[in-house]
Amino acid sequence: MKFWEHPLVKNIGPEQINSLFATTPVTATGRYINTIIIAYCLYGIATTAEMMAWIGINFLGASYALYRWKYGNSNRTRPVTKQAIKQIIFLSVYFTIPWIFLTLLYLGNSANQYEAIILLTMAAMAAVGSIQLSRVYPAAIAYLALLTLPVILKGLYLSTEYSLLIAISTAVYISFLFMVIRQTSALSIKHSQTIKAYEQQINELDHAKADMQKYAMEDPLTELPNRREFQTRLEEAVSEAQRQGSSVSLLICDLDHFKNINDISGHAAGDTVLVEVAKRLKSVVRDYDFVARIGGDEFAIIAKHHKSPKDTADFTNRVLKAVNHSIRVNGSNVCPGISVGISMLPFDALDTPTLLSHADLALQRGKAAGRGQYNFFDQQMKSQLSSDQAMENDLRLALVESEFELLYQPKVSIRTGQIEGFEALIRWNHPDGKTVSPGQFFPVAEDRGLMPYIADFVIEQVFQDMQTWKNLGIDPGRIAVNIHPTQIKDKNRMKRIVRDIERKGLDPSKFYLEITEGCIIGRGTEDIPELLTYLRNKGLRISLDDFGTGFASLSHLKDLPVDELKIDRSFINDLLSDASNRAIVHAMVKLASSLGITTVAEGIEDQEQHTVLLAMGCTTGQGYLYNRPLSMEKATRLIQNAQHVRNIKEIKHENVISPKIAPENRTSKITA
Ligand code: C2E
Ligand code: MG
Ligand code: MG
Repeated sequence: MKFWEHPLVKNIGPEQINSLFATTPVTATGRYINTIIIAYCLYGIATTAEMMAWIGINFLGASYALYRWKYGNSNRTRPVTKQAIKQIIFLSVYFTIPWIFLTLLYLGNSANQYEAIILLTMAAMAAVGSIQLSRVYPAAIAYLALLTLPVILKGLYLSTEYSLLIAISTAVYISFLFMVIRQTSALSIKHSQTIKAYEQQINELDHAKADMQKYAMEDPLTELPNRREFQTRLEEAVSEAQRQGSSVSLLICDLDHFKNINDISGHAAGDTVLVEVAKRLKSVVRDYDFVARIGGDEFAIIAKHHKSPKDTADFTNRVLKAVNHSIRVNGSNVCPGISVGISMLPFDALDTPTLLSHADLALQRGKAAGRGQYNFFDQQMKSQLSSDQAMENDLRLALVESEFELLYQPKVSIRTGQIEGFEALIRWNHPDGKTVSPGQFFPVAEDRGLMPYIADFVIEQVFQDMQTWKNLGIDPGRIAVNIHPTQIKDKNRMKRIVRDIERKGLDPSKFYLEITEGCIIGRGTEDIPELLTYLRNKGLRISLDDFGTGFASLSHLKDLPVDELKIDRSFINDLLSDASNRAIVHAMVKLASSLGITTVAEGIEDQEQHTVLLAMGCTTGQGYLYNRPLSMEKATRLIQNAQHVRNIKEIKHENVISPKIAPENRTSKITA
């Protein structure tokens, strides 16, 4: 093994050198004393020059060691160089030189009566010196060897009984000393390695603790304070404002359509946007304001010392302006917009929880009204919230108490007046006696996640009513069920409808599913055409409801598996007064019929509308002219009557409904 690769050499660290130097004062003092004792023993034997050399060399070495101890670096931390080890070996060798001469010249000299003292001193020197040097193993070995080998050699050379005994006892003595030094060296290195490992562990623990403390308060992505820290700072700001009678403006900012960025450009792009928005928010606030990231795409700003809501409005405008310019992400520009909800202490709230919930409410209400703007909290929002809350509670109860009912509005052939089927329309029979229409309770049901339960009720009720009609031997024609956009996104639920129809022994072709454009346009609707195709292949029919009100265009018709187009009521309303509406409806009817799709005109209320639609070739009509939505019982009677009339009269003019006939007199009209 190479010298420098020896474990007791290569592992010598700064700790060893530091502790070696730490003992210098003791060993140097020992050296001075020994030098004087030996000088005394040599007095009269050695020449003056030899005495001077003896004292000079020893004192010089001891003094140099002391000098290094006093002015050198006592706390080395850097790894030990080979050069440093060589220097220590050299110094150790230097200390042995006068003793080598002492041994060679004066040991065994019969005139020297102090020989025993010299040997004793040398033994002490060998033991103490080599143990002290054992931190630097090669230095200790060199020192011990050079100090004792001359004694052995001289003993052998003189070959007297006395000198041989000294040589032998020295050899035995130094062999033990070698072993001790070796062990001490190994222990010293192991000891400092253990300490080093401990120190490293403690260091790592300290770092981990610091990181934990940091992340407990900080969002790692944007490096903004997190929700927890925000909560603490908001409480502090509120108590400070309460003490000083000043204000706190709380802005909750939500990134508009952030989910789209994540979905379309990926999460890394989303992260880039968040980091950039955080930077922009930070750049716009003053030092004593506070910005935090409190949720996925939600940030909060605590702004202090605004004198009036106008100050806060100006400040918010600056925030919107700072955020609202494009960010380069993956080679394209993304323009992040934010919506802000604001609540101010003391105007809108007097404590932290209220301030927070009011800012949240302002954000939610503002977002519903339109994004990219700010909204201050106002009391009306709160009353809206509590009435929504009350309605939610009532709706939940209504589901349990079976307060919902399905009405059936006939769909009639415009040409013959015959009932082709019914549309199932939900009503809520409120315990206070009012009948609530879906337009009134759907928004709250959607907002509070109750639509799936309502949809389940509708489907179940339709199945039950179909079964009843089947048992009564009545054919109601096709029953149309309205499908809500949230409902269609749950593919499994939709497929379950088919399974349930089959399981109950009902005919799938007796069902129309009425979907609105909300079901087919927008995010998450990519695989809806596939689902519709599946449902259609299973025999169900698909109807496109409220057509013409939104972004769904005629071009969608050829791409979608649609059987029926329901022209929205708004077109029928203005049919007579608005020529362009008439032209549009005409175009819809023509295009649909060229694609083999039937058309239903919704909301036909008078005879003139009926006549115009008949002339246009519109196949089916639905509206108060024919019937309002009817209860199950009334719908049943209507079908029975119509069947009865058909059975007893040979209807001669069954192809045409006279436009002149008043609705009340028509056979299909129920007069309750
Ligand atoms: P919709 O599917 O377009 O239903 C037609 C709506 O027009 C019904 O309102 C019906 O009562 C009304 N209507 C029919 N003829 C006339 C008329 O001549 N004049 C006037 N002014 N209105 C007429 P309703 O029942 O209030 O339903 C409103 C909307 O609520 C429905 O529009 C449908 O989108 C939704 N809806 C109703 N029931 C359900 C349901 O069970 N499930 C789902 N998902 N949506 C439903
Ligand atoms: Mg409908
Ligand atoms: Mg409609």
